[in-house]
Amino acid sequence: MENRAKHLVFLGCGLLCAAASVFAVASAPSAAEGPQTGQSAPPTSAPAATSSDASTPNFPVASGARLAGDDKQTRFILDLDRKIEFRAFPLADPYRVVVDIPQVNFQLAAGTGSAARGLVKAFRYGLVMPGGSRIVFDMTGPVKIANSYVLDAANGQPPRLVLDFEQVDRTSFVQSLAPESRPELKPAISESTTATIPAVTSAALPPLATTDARPLIVIDPGHGGIDNGTQSGDQTEKNLVLGFGLALRDRIEKSGKYRVVMTRSDDTFIPLNDRVKIARAQSAALFVSIHADALPRREGDAQGATIYTVSDKASDAEAERLAEAENKADAIAGVNLTDEPTEVADILIDLAQRETKTFSNRFARLLMDEMKTTVRMHKHPLKSAGFRVLKAPDVPSVLVEIGYVSNKGDLEHLVSENWRNKAVGSMVQAIDTFFAKRLATAGPAK
Ligand SMILES: [Zn+2]
Repeated sequence: MENRAKHLVFLGCGLLCAAASVFAVASAPSAAEGPQTGQSAPPTSAPAATSSDASTPNFPVASGARLAGDDKQTRFILDLDRKIEFRAFPLADPYRVVVDIPQVNFQLAAGTGSAARGLVKAFRYGLVMPGGSRIVFDMTGPVKIANSYVLDAANGQPPRLVLDFEQVDRTSFVQSLAPESRPELKPAISESTTATIPAVTSAALPPLATTDARPLIVIDPGHGGIDNGTQSGDQTEKNLVLGFGLALRDRIEKSGKYRVVMTRSDDTFIPLNDRVKIARAQSAALFVSIHADALPRREGDAQGATIYTVSDKASDAEAERLAEAENKADAIAGVNLTDEPTEVADILIDLAQRETKTFSNRFARLLMDEMKTTVRMHKHPLKSAGFRVLKAPDVPSVLVEIGYVSNKGDLEHLVSENWRNKAVGSMVQAIDTFFAKRLATAGPAK
């Protein structure tokens, strides 16, 4: 945990904070939010300590967020209860601005960030790692961070984080990026100090008893932290699938036949690549990713669980749409997509992949046979598409959309403990059959 947190380097000023350029007050959305010019800022009035409960960490509180300005200059303001450090940087393809801050307790009104204004299409916020929160802005086009600073409380206003975005052309935007974030350049070894979400290292993984020969199953609850996944009212995919994943883990462990590793067991964001890395680093015998889909309202209604395997070509348009949506998780969380290592094309990997594919498909069919006895299934319950999270060449992997949060009946199931118990029971049954067959034909587990 320490290992991950220390990757986050806080600077008092954004990467591109041009100290000399003072925001033109005439065009400023609100002069009152401008940088302070006075030398002696009034002492920050510490907010009344509202809680002395030692079990609640005393994180800074963000109480309001707003956008102002137009499509030439747009300002973002975050109201806080104390000053914080931050680091802001742009990312390309899609155009985003990421602001890394210490863990903050966001108490913002529902829907904050969903409305477009000026250069900002939308923004979201949340935890990306223990101790670290993040705000990610989707931009309408290339921008520069013309100003970024934190103001003391003054004139009845709380401490504020202020960012000014200005429209620039693509060329100057690309030049402003840190070298490793430039789309054209892909250094073989990135000595990146930008606050991309740190990759999982083997040190971060729980130690394994090497003498334990039981097959290892990785359960991967989708999304987390800043990435909510699909949503319906108060229900978010990230919470529903975490609850399901933990119940599945408990049931599998109870059998005593397998070891289980979770890619996440709390509300933290894990990049897609890291989920795959966890499975590979632990030589997992099976990888099960848990999600809950939603159909956009204009596309009608769909219901039931669907089991996906990986394929180059999607089995149908809906599978293609879904894989595209699920593969966006990293972009949503502000991961720099340009510095991903390219997979080495290799005949051995290809051979391993073919065998892995056979096992993945076999498990998917077993899972369908078991689940259909207890759970409402989609009318085409077995599909395939290019899910990035299923691309480990040597670990049989499936992704289960356990239902549609956009469907009333499905949502009632997804929040029901009784339904969850039945679904989890079927999954464990399928796992048992899968490994019974596998052990019988392939000898001892690896
Ligand atoms: Zn999902």
